Amino acid sequence: MKLVPQPLKDGFLVIFEGIDGSGKSTQLKLAQEELVKEGWSSLYASRNLGGTPIGEELRKVMKAPIERPNTTDLYISVAIQEALTDRIQAERAKGQLILMDRGPLSLATYAIYGGGLNAMLGWQHVDTGMAQLQPELIILYKMAVPVALERVRQKSGQPDYFESKPASYFDKVAHGYDDAAKRYPQTVIIDGSQSVEAVHAQSMRAIREALSKKLAV
Ligand code: ADP
Repeated sequence: MKLVPQPLKDGFLVIFEGIDGSGKSTQLKLAQEELVKEGWSSLYASRNLGGTPIGEELRKVMKAPIERPNTTDLYISVAIQEALTDRIQAERAKGQLILMDRGPLSLATYAIYGGGLNAMLGWQHVDTGMAQLQPELIILYKMAVPVALERVRQKSGQPDYFESKPASYFDKVAHGYDDAAKRYPQTVIIDGSQSVEAVHAQSMRAIREALSKKLAV
C-alpha cells in the first residue's frame, strides 16, 4: 500500500508500547527513517518518559535508584506526560505525523501491574492521558520476558531503577499490557521476538493501514 505524503488534519499519533527490550525505540527509529524517505517530512518523534526539557529532567529522577512509594512514581509520570501532551497537541494542530516511544499504557502497566498501585487511581490517570492524546494507533510489541531482559542486559552496562527489577515484576507488566490492549481497541499487537526486519515490516503495515483509514475520513 502506497500513501501520498500530505498534511494530516489534526495530526496523527502512533504510540509504541511494550516491556523494556521489546524493540520500541529500534522500531520507532526505523519507521521514522522509512516515513521520511517516503516524503512524510512533517514528522515529530518523541519519548515518554521525557520528550520535553522538564520531562527529560524528571526522567532522570524516575530512573535514579531512589526508593519511593508507587504513588510518587505515578505523579512524576503524570507530570512528565502532561508536559508532553501539551507539546503533542501543538504538533497535532500543525498536522504532524507523531511517533511516540511509550504512552499512558506504560503508566498503567508499570505503576498498577508492576508496582501494585491502586488500579482505580491508576486507570483514572491513564484514561485521562488517552483522552487528551487520542492516538490513532498503538503498536504493542509482545515477547517472552526473559528474552527481552537479556536484550536489555546486553545493551546497557548499568541497569537503571526499573531495569534492575526482577523478572517477576516484568511478568506482571507484560500481563498489564495484555489487559491494556483490550481496553484500547486501536492497539495492534506484533510479536517482538521476530527479526528486526520482520517486526519493521509488520509495524509499517499497521501504520499504513491506520494512516489510510485516517485519510479516507
Ligand atoms: P526498547 O526500546 O523496547 O527498550 P530497544 O529498541 O532499545 O527496546 O531494543 C533493546 C535491544 O534489543 C537493543 O540492543 C536492540 O538493538 C535489540 N533489539 C531490538 N529489536 C530486536 C530484534 N527484533 N531482535 C534482536 N534484537 C533486537
